Amino acid sequence: MKISAVRARVYRWIGPTSPPRRNFCASPMDAVAALADPMSAFRFHEWLVCEIETSDGIVGIGNCALAPRLAKRVIDMYLAPLVIGRDPFDVEAIWQAMYRSTIAWGRKGIGMAGISAVDIALWDILGKATGKPVFKLLGGRTKARIPVYASRLYSQPLETLAQEAQRYLDQGFTMMKLRFGWGPQDGAAGMRHNIDLLKTVREVVGDDVDIMLECYMGWTLEYAKRIFPRLAIYNPRWIEEPVLPDDIAGYSQLNATGSIPVAGGEHEFTLFGFKQLLDSNSVSVIQYDTNRVGGITAAQKINALAEACQVPVVPHAGQMHNYHLTMANLNCPMSEFFPVNEVEVGNELFYYLFEGDPLPKDGFVDLRDDVPGLGISISGEHLGSFQIVD
Ligand code: MG
Repeated sequence: MKISAVRARVYRWIGPTSPPRRNFCASPMDAVAALADPMSAFRFHEWLVCEIETSDGIVGIGNCALAPRLAKRVIDMYLAPLVIGRDPFDVEAIWQAMYRSTIAWGRKGIGMAGISAVDIALWDILGKATGKPVFKLLGGRTKARIPVYASRLYSQPLETLAQEAQRYLDQGFTMMKLRFGWGPQDGAAGMRHNIDLLKTVREVVGDDVDIMLECYMGWTLEYAKRIFPRLAIYNPRWIEEPVLPDDIAGYSQLNATGSIPVAGGEHEFTLFGFKQLLDSNSVSVIQYDTNRVGGITAAQKINALAEACQVPVVPHAGQMHNYHLTMANLNCPMSEFFPVNEVEVGNELFYYLFEGDPLPKDGFVDLRDDVPGLGISISGEHLGSFQIVD
């Protein structure tokens, strides 16, 4: 079996959107809000789908969502020529060829997003060719079902925030993640608003529910050091991306305080990037996203490294490429789940574009043993709301 074609397409959502409000989530743009649109960090209304076809007629599907039109260029110009004609089962050698030939510019960011999309499609082929779900090729079933946490709770008026938290409780979730809305530029009042958000959710859910906290790179080390003790009294499960992903020393200092476990990695790349985070004790929870980090081939190596360090891995976003890794690794205790919603920032597009993703029941998702590959296909249901732009 040989790879005969690689097709990368960018799907742009042209259906209705519900634009996020100011202060709905902290971000790195907050620091320059006076100079540029702070909401520009929150529009991901395009998704790249990479279909790889084999001489046997198998089509593997991969995807990525970081700057999809640029990732498409990477695939078309640099990766497809390396992949066509190869045996898809030589997935390690193919990964190394993609990584090494783009290393001058591709190690982190868009280059690795393109590599991820191709690698995920190759693993989908391996599953389909062997008649096995991908998780069965990675280690098999390590849990009866995957516990998932509800990941939304954007910063909003406290009354509606409380209602949303109650809704997740009613749906059977025992874990949920809250977004902060303010950062260093919002002063003492902003810090109090942030604390009120957590206090509100804790009051609704009681002590027997895990609350995760999300800063989305929007704070500074100094701000984080001041607010951590005031948050810690509400016993959060972890705090995510408190500082810029490049501030590894900042991560390390915060994690060393031990007051709240620090989580991160959705903007880190490859085995080498995560070795740096683990060597410096920067994170207590690793959160790569398979469609950024280098695909399933890279993610599985990071899983091994993290297990040796006894740092749990909870991939960023639900979605099939992440669920299969969570299922196959004992050191991945749970997955994230974005509640299906109207299109806001764009995280939701996965559900509109693909079919086959499991929906949670009582706070768990399950993967089927009898569906080969990743188990997703392009959905016809919402195709009219997408435009293929590239
Ligand atoms: Mg996050």
